[in-house]
Amino acid sequence: MTHDPRSSLLRAALDAAARGWHVFPLRPSTKRPALHGEAKCPHTGPCAGGHVKWEQRATTDPDRIQAAWSRAPFNVGIATGPSGLIVVDLDTSEHKGSADAPDGATTFGALCERAGHAVPDTFRTRTASGGTHLYFTAPAGFRLSNTAGTVAASVDTRAAGGYVVAAGSIVPGGRYEVEGGTAAVSLPGWLLALLRPAPVAPAVPLRLPAVDGSRAALAALEAECAAVVGAPDGLRNVTLNRCAFKVGRFVAWGDLPRHVAEDAFQAAGEARGLTAAECRATIRSALDSSVRKARPRETA
Ligand SMILES: [Zn+2]
Repeated sequence: MTHDPRSSLLRAALDAAARGWHVFPLRPSTKRPALHGEAKCPHTGPCAGGHVKWEQRATTDPDRIQAAWSRAPFNVGIATGPSGLIVVDLDTSEHKGSADAPDGATTFGALCERAGHAVPDTFRTRTASGGTHLYFTAPAGFRLSNTAGTVAASVDTRAAGGYVVAAGSIVPGGRYEVEGGTAAVSLPGWLLALLRPAPVAPAVPLRLPAVDGSRAALAALEAECAAVVGAPDGLRNVTLNRCAFKVGRFVAWGDLPRHVAEDAFQAAGEARGLTAAECRATIRSALDSSVRKARPRETA
């Protein structure tokens, strides 16, 4: 343990960045961004070509992080959008202004039970006010925004356009701490369905291996997942089957890892109201069949 808050906060920022999460400084002992807002933009330095907000300036670059945190004991903000994260914020009822209201952990636990799932085991932090942040990786093919109370009472989510205060940050009420979970797991499909995603381009590009054709594969995956989410009643399973089959040739050609296609279609199918088991079976059979029947790229 060090007693210099600057070095422990620097380490917190570097730890988050090492997980691939984009960090930016928050004013010391607060939850507010340390970077200037648009109204006070000096139009110099990074803003020479126009104001750049914290979401764009958030970085995983250790040199930039080192330089920023050497200046002051900044708290650590994680920009959820560019980090490819969805963070579920389970707030305490006192923090929401009414000690009588159920807290976020209670309402979220009840929601999971109704949905027939355990509370997902994923990377989580304890907030200074006693709440919990559950970290999930964002699914392909969806742009999710922040929500407040959409999932359940006292449950907010942070996604594109949002940020969370990282473990290690200190505010007058206490310290943000890692509570458990080694890594952020994929956002479960049943939870994605509750976040009412708009089936448009993802906020964050998929991290795919750089191979020829992967851009086309990704575009196809996004379009077909959107078609699944928009499938008419009575044609949900048929649509999932047809769309997964169409994307299968990119898997056969090596343009798209099979698990990426499976995860995206699983999320899309569950978001459209199919059960997890139905989705898995349909996706497996459609991809198997498509991969088997795929012709070489030249003759396709
Ligand atoms: Zn600016």
